[in-house]
Amino acid sequence: MGRTWIWAILGVLAACPAWSVEVHDVRLWRAPDHTRIVFDLTGPVEHKLIVLDNPSRIVLDVEKVTMKASVDGLKLKGTPVQAMRTGIRQGNDLRVVLELGATVKPRSFFLKANDQAGDRLVLDLYDKAPQAETVVAKTVKHSDKRNIIIAIDAGHGGEDPGAIGPNRRREKDVVLAIANELNALLRADKGFQPTMIRSGDYYISLKGRRDLARQRQADLFVSIHADAFKRKEAHGASVYALSTQGATSTAASYLAQRENESDLVGGVTLSDKDDVLAGVLADLSMTSTLDNSLKLGDRVLRRMDTIAKLHKNSVEQAGFAVLKSPDIPSILVETGFISNPAESELLSSRSYQQKMARAIHAGIREWFLAHPPSGTLVAWQKQQIGQQYVIARGDTLSGIAERFNVPLSDLKIRNGISGEKIMVGQKLLIPTT
Ligand SMILES: [Zn+2]
Repeated sequence: MGRTWIWAILGVLAACPAWSVEVHDVRLWRAPDHTRIVFDLTGPVEHKLIVLDNPSRIVLDVEKVTMKASVDGLKLKGTPVQAMRTGIRQGNDLRVVLELGATVKPRSFFLKANDQAGDRLVLDLYDKAPQAETVVAKTVKHSDKRNIIIAIDAGHGGEDPGAIGPNRRREKDVVLAIANELNALLRADKGFQPTMIRSGDYYISLKGRRDLARQRQADLFVSIHADAFKRKEAHGASVYALSTQGATSTAASYLAQRENESDLVGGVTLSDKDDVLAGVLADLSMTSTLDNSLKLGDRVLRRMDTIAKLHKNSVEQAGFAVLKSPDIPSILVETGFISNPAESELLSSRSYQQKMARAIHAGIREWFLAHPPSGTLVAWQKQQIGQQYVIARGDTLSGIAERFNVPLSDLKIRNGISGEKIMVGQKLLIPTT
């Protein structure tokens, strides 16, 4: 390279003022209770938010920045934003105007670059009336016994793609697919009621995920992941629980550290950060919650053993922030390594996603049928085993079998009934299955 050429480059660099930060991309995510707009930047910026009425709009002023991206392609449908435009103010300041069709509570913050994402300016618009998923814990018929509530947490989402495998396969998509399959299986189970912590492509903070599980009165929190490792040979499924003192292996510690960085990538403002820890861990209730998490996790692991290679043969423990609910048994299922070419291929196939969901489902179901929380339909059904039931008017054999969750054939065999005929006042023994 000739000397003049170098001087020419230096000249261009000198002509670029130090404040020349650029917006190089704008992205939008729609969550059930808010809309997030992210401005990707080449450096830090100062900004100001102005909320105006009649017509309702939000003005975002960003100092000393050049707009190198377009907002035209953003999908505004289904969001409170009706239109969005940008313009230059005072020579080098950017003004973004959002016209709103509904009242929102805005919140904006700057996120410093980290290992996985660059500098970002985040604008969250909270809908005034969030379409909160109706709180579950609905009672069911048969003496008003409640369902067992399983909170299914598909890891990552939105801003945070999670681990990325060959062919740009993203953890956030794979785990949402598996979570949906698990949701469908549990929905078909009498006495169980699943609830999805994340139901689309948006980010929820780690603390936010725990809060949702508590709001929905979950009996179990299961977080689903498919992570990556430096060595692409790493493979196998595993199950994790929280550790209150150190990790059970370096791999577990590494994974927990990666998972806990999710908030950095996902974009969590300081006010959402976690402050619970110390007190919570000293809590005595944590001991029994953790004990249950480990035992339940083991059931899930045993079921996964039948369809996948296990990474470790026992439930591992580390300081996962998402598992830190003091009162809800919580496990993190690592369905495999998306960084491993063969496993990534499997994890992206519908049939394997279903297989994986079936294994997780079987483990959860097996645990709760053996240890149903009190007050649940499943606990009540378990108590009825070996009990006598006196047939009342309007009863049918199949109705009784369903009510006590026993196979109709078992009920008939145990009571020596061959046809369908039963009589009011007749006594039936509810068999063990
Ligand atoms: Zn993950």
